[in-house]
Amino acid sequence: MATFRLEVVTAERMVFADDVNEVVAWGMEGQLGILPHHAPLMTMLQPGDLLIKKDNEEEYLAISGGFLEVRPDKVIILADASERAEEIDVARAEAAKRRAEATLKERPPGVDAAAEAALRRSLARLKVAERRRRKPRGTA
Ligand code: ATP
Repeated sequence: MATFRLEVVTAERMVFADDVNEVVAWGMEGQLGILPHHAPLMTMLQPGDLLIKKDNEEEYLAISGGFLEVRPDKVIILADASERAEEIDVARAEAAKRRAEATLKERPPGVDAAAEAALRRSLARLKVAERRRRKPRGTA
């Protein structure tokens, strides 16, 4: 299977770097799949889960927004924050979700972009952590 280099970085650290077969990210208009030899591209990402496929294995990362760039030699995701499934503190994400929901309950939709983004970040983290709980790595 053809591969390409994927790097997921934040301002603080390299979260993921490996040769992969496919990556599926949340662009601003929906999901975006990248395969080897994709045309150069630069796009914003919204908070969501990032699916990485390699050798019939799937790994999910939580991405709290950022940019995805397809370069000729590699694909770089520069994320505001990103966690691997095993790094996610579920209780913290649940607390963040409750806080964002409580804030949004008081406001009409579309008014509080910060709370809506916080809610999406918490949901992405919970989704990634939940997938790992159901199917730990190595048992695919
Ligand atoms: P919180 O309100 O709990 O701080 P947040 O969505 O505002 O959540 P971010 O600003 O996206 O947090 O991230 C700040 C830092 O904390 C980043 O390094 C991020 O990786 C980490 N982080 C945030 N939430 C979690 C979590 N549930 N588990 C592990 N790390 C987290």
